[in-house]
Amino acid sequence: MDATETIQDRLTSIRARITRAEREFGRAPGSVQLLAVSKTVPVKQVHDAFLCGQRQFGENYLQEAMSKMTDPMLARAGLEWHFIGTLQSNKTHKIAHYFNWVHTIDRLSIAQRLNDQRPAQLPPLNICLQVNSSGEASKGGVDMEHLPSLAAAVARLPRLRLRGLMTIPQATTDFDQQRLPLRRVREAWERLRDSGLPLDTLSMGMSDDLEAAIAEGATLVRIGTAIFGKRVKSP
Ligand SMILES: *Cc1c(COP(=O)(O)O)cnc(C)c1O
Repeated sequence: MDATETIQDRLTSIRARITRAEREFGRAPGSVQLLAVSKTVPVKQVHDAFLCGQRQFGENYLQEAMSKMTDPMLARAGLEWHFIGTLQSNKTHKIAHYFNWVHTIDRLSIAQRLNDQRPAQLPPLNICLQVNSSGEASKGGVDMEHLPSLAAAVARLPRLRLRGLMTIPQATTDFDQQRLPLRRVREAWERLRDSGLPLDTLSMGMSDDLEAAIAEGATLVRIGTAIFGKRVKSP
């Protein structure tokens, strides 16, 4: 990536990639939303993305996310914040208070905590269940076998709104190989919908596999590097 490219240039080209993939794979125009993943990115660059019209941001680390959310300009901006990091039970209280979405639920105990801690005056917290699509033991996510019962249980929690599934597949550069795990997640999502759950979100696709994800039905792609450049450090 060219260092002289601005966030505006990169957002423009990511939006063009999404539009092109929607067209190529027969998806409705505008059916794929862009979540800008701003983990480790300085708040100044989040301002830049906001000024270019970006409204949905994904964060992995709670403390870092909180400092962005409470930034004077961003706090007034009415942004939509998505928690996409690893969930620990000591973090759920703040997440339930400050985020609009959580993508990384893979067990009922943590869903129950978020449900119990979601403030009554806020709308229900939007939820995606994270699915382990590659069978890698090191990756988070519920396995396919336990997905239906987890989905049914989370759907019953009144302060959560189950919207769909999320996955982080094993990285590969081969397009057809990229599509395989994404297809399994989409098929699982369709089975849950057929069983009566009103799901509308498939959160899959990152900087290197967004075309494969859109081909397989993603409704929201989570893009970091292609917007903000290569991440240099963890906070
Ligand atoms: C970091 C991250 C992304 C963005 O990945 P890029 O390859 O930088 O686009 C997407 N989803 C999750 C869960 C992440 O942690």
